[in-house]
Amino acid sequence: EVTRTKKPNWLRVKLPVGKEYARVRKIVDENKLHTICESGNCPNMGECWGAGTATFMILGNVCTRSCSFCAVATGRPPEYDLDEPRRVAEAIHTMGVKHAVITSVNRDELKDRGAEIWYQTVRLIKELSPATTIETLIPDTKGNWEALERMISAGQEVVSHNMETVERLYRPVRPQAKYARSLEQILRTKQAGKRTKSGIMLGLGETQDEVFKAMDDLAAHGLDILTLGQYLQPTKMHIEVAEFIRPEVFEMYKEEGLKRGLKYVESGPLVRSSYHAERHVHV
Ligand code: SF4
Ligand code: SF4
Repeated sequence: EVTRTKKPNWLRVKLPVGKEYARVRKIVDENKLHTICESGNCPNMGECWGAGTATFMILGNVCTRSCSFCAVATGRPPEYDLDEPRRVAEAIHTMGVKHAVITSVNRDELKDRGAEIWYQTVRLIKELSPATTIETLIPDTKGNWEALERMISAGQEVVSHNMETVERLYRPVRPQAKYARSLEQILRTKQAGKRTKSGIMLGLGETQDEVFKAMDDLAAHGLDILTLGQYLQPTKMHIEVAEFIRPEVFEMYKEEGLKRGLKYVESGPLVRSSYHAERHVHV
C-alpha cells in the first residue's frame, strides 16, 4: 500500500554515521548548542555532519512563532543567553568550519529581535576564525529595520531570509509572517550592500505560476541566490506534503529562475537553505 508519507526514491539519503559525524555531535553537545539540522530533522545530516559542517541555531531553541512546517518548539523563550555567541564561535573554531551557516528562532518578544546576539555571534566567529566565511539565515524582524541593520552589519558574507512558500500559502504555512514584509527585508538587505539569499519549499500545494511569481518578486527585490527544495513533513502534527515534486521539475525551476534574473539557483529535492552553502559565497 502506498501511503501519503511514503517517500519517492529520489529522497533516499545516507544514514548519519562515521567518525566525522561523531566529532560534530560531540562539539555540539559539549558546547550546549542547537542546530537546525537536528531541530528540523534535516535529511542531509549524514552528508553535512559527515563532512564536518552543521548549521547552528542561536537565541535558544524555543520560538515565538508557530510555522506549520517547522519542528522547532513554540512557546515563551527563556532569557537571553549572553554566553551563546562565544560558544558558537568556539565550536566553529574547533570544528575548523570554512564556511559557517548560522540561523535562529524568532524572538518577537524582544525589542531588538535578538539583533545584538546576532551581531556578537558573527563578530566573535570572525575574531576567532578570520578566514571563515559566514552566512546568516535571519528571521524577519517584524519591520524593525534598525534591528535588521544591526543584525547584518558584523561582516557576514551572505544574508539569507527564507520566503518559505508562495504568497497565497502564507496563512496556513507562515501565519505570523507577511509576504510583502519579507520581500521588503530582502530589498533592504540588498540596499545595505549584502549578498542576498532566500529559500522556498515546494510540495505544499503551490502552482507553478505561483512559484514563477515568487521568483519575479524576489528578482525585483534584489535577490541574488535562491534555493528550492522539497518540503518534508517533520512529524504527523505538521502540515502535510501535498506533492512530491519530480527532479526534472526542480531543474525546470532552476532554468526559469536564472531567466528571471536571479544570479544563482540551487534547486533539487534535497536542497535546503544551508545545503552546499559554501558555493554561495562568491556569487
Ligand atoms: Fe544541517 Fe543544512 Fe546540512 Fe541540513 S542541509 S544537515 S540543516 S547544514
Ligand atoms: Fe520555525 Fe523559524 Fe517559524 Fe520559528 S519562525 S516556527 S524557527 S520556521
